[in-house]
Amino acid sequence: MANYHPLVITNRFAQLPACFYRDVTPQPLDNTRWVMWNSTLAIQFGLPENAPLGELKQQLSGEVEHPQFSPLAMKYAGHQFGVYNPDLGDGRGLLLGELTDAKGSVFDLHLKGAGLTPYSRMGDGRAVLRSTIREYLCSEAMAGLGIATTRALGMLVSDTPVYREKQERGALLLRMAESHVRFGHFEYLFYTNQLAELKLLADKVIEWYWPQLAQAENPYIAMFEQVVDTTALMIAQWQAVGFCHGVMNTDNMSIIGQTFDYGPFAFLDDYDPSYICNHSDYQGRYAFNRQPSIALWNLSALGHALSAIIDKSDIEQQLAQYEIKLQQYYSRQMRAKLGLNTTLEEDGEFFVSLFELLEKTHVDYPRFMRELSNLDHQSPSNVIDLFVDRDSAKTWLERYLLRASKEVDENGNSITAKQRCEQMRKVNPKYVFRNYLAQQAIDKAERGDFSEVQTLAKLLAAPYDEHSKYESYDKLPPEWGKGMEISCSS
Ligand code: AMP
Ligand code: MG
Repeated sequence: MANYHPLVITNRFAQLPACFYRDVTPQPLDNTRWVMWNSTLAIQFGLPENAPLGELKQQLSGEVEHPQFSPLAMKYAGHQFGVYNPDLGDGRGLLLGELTDAKGSVFDLHLKGAGLTPYSRMGDGRAVLRSTIREYLCSEAMAGLGIATTRALGMLVSDTPVYREKQERGALLLRMAESHVRFGHFEYLFYTNQLAELKLLADKVIEWYWPQLAQAENPYIAMFEQVVDTTALMIAQWQAVGFCHGVMNTDNMSIIGQTFDYGPFAFLDDYDPSYICNHSDYQGRYAFNRQPSIALWNLSALGHALSAIIDKSDIEQQLAQYEIKLQQYYSRQMRAKLGLNTTLEEDGEFFVSLFELLEKTHVDYPRFMRELSNLDHQSPSNVIDLFVDRDSAKTWLERYLLRASKEVDENGNSITAKQRCEQMRKVNPKYVFRNYLAQQAIDKAERGDFSEVQTLAKLLAAPYDEHSKYESYDKLPPEWGKGMEISCSS
């Protein structure tokens, strides 16, 4: 048997003091059955390649106690839509334990939809099938795009009714991530004046996620610098692919800069910088083009909590780096998308012209980028045909081709269009998470047929490849499927 790795279970979070969590026993759902299982992730952590049956299935779904799991609900707080809420915590998800892979990476195993916890407030502790499918698909899509994210190990559907606007089916998601520590964990400890515990959590974040920082002159400043850096990278990647998170509350911000908590998210179809995907976001606080500044707001809220262990001036100094880092990362992402390796003085204006074109024409953003990666210089109709305003497209394309013709490789040799396009197809996905595709897959799944969910999971995990059997999955959305607003009730 090649590469066999045993299941290694730890409970390091459960060893923290009592104020960090409550022990909770999962409340099983009726007649659960696997509908998705991520074999690659499973094998990595010593779990069976195929969805397990028998005792292990019952343990993973919270029906039977696993002797080595120590299920707990984490306590945290956070700023929701700018307002501090002290009463948050895992309201419907439990940390079962941590799993270690062959390289020594430790991932949390989290069961979402497992029932009531002391932090459920008015909620029922459950997750519905529709939102569980969306999280499964999108987290795997983000991983496919190379964007830091929580992962999905498996999904179970049940016969337990769950009531939202209508009666739905309860489901369970097994989520994995290096960390479930949120900005809101530090805010909770700061605002309840548990400062020794706050320092302890910072020590643990360093020990668990960035052990090399323990050697820094001031490990806490170094930790905050890392949070600023990884957050800036994540936001730059979101903006470059057109991902709109929808609920960037500080309790949904991962301390290690991973895309976290998939709710009413969406990817841009038609380019609209002010797009608001969250049906309940009346003010547009989390609109697509506000994400960069909201992330800074959230980092400032975290910085405020960390003022218990870091000087204010040092926090401000790190915060001041955010915009610089974001710009650098974003510029790198966008240059790669356009196949530009070199930096020329004229590039500032060139990029302005790109965003002017996108905003004016509202072209389908992912398709535009992919078609640009297939550009035939002799007949660029594949790109021009995407536009109603063909003249604007032609004018900009001429400018693009002129700029691209100035590209050279590291030896100073010019780069052929074929080479450039090949590179670009590795960063501009052919298959993207489209809300209308997800909706169609969900509609089928609610009738018991998970084939579309499985197909989408496969395509989105390898989004840059051509999958000739699945050509229709890169179709532009129909009118009803464009710019959908997603409800928060999940
Ligand atoms: P979210 O908007 O998903 O980030 O959730 C905000 C808070 O509400 C978190 O503390 C969640 O655990 C909690 N929550 C969300 N949905 C439910 C639910 N159905 N039952 C209990 N708690 C929930
Ligand atoms: Mg949340």
